[in-house]
Amino acid sequence: MLRLLIIILLLVLLFALIKRLLPGKPPGPDESRIAKMVRCDYCQLYIPHTSAIKHADRYYCCDEHKLMGSE
Ligand SMILES: [Zn+2]
Repeated sequence: MLRLLIIILLLVLLFALIKRLLPGKPPGPDESRIAKMVRCDYCQLYIPHTSAIKHADRYYCCDEHKLMGSE
């Protein structure tokens, strides 16, 4: 029984060592992959900055809201 425990312990240590040696993910969130969120000025919906429609320093989720909001 004690032998089995020692084997399990060794395996756990080995896994921890392998995990440490392998190149892990860089710490912190990758900001380039996380889109900045902006709020539609008309419906207050949050949309990614990349798909937002900008008009007169305001963001809109679609052309319709841009027209409605800028009127
Ligand atoms: Zn909208």
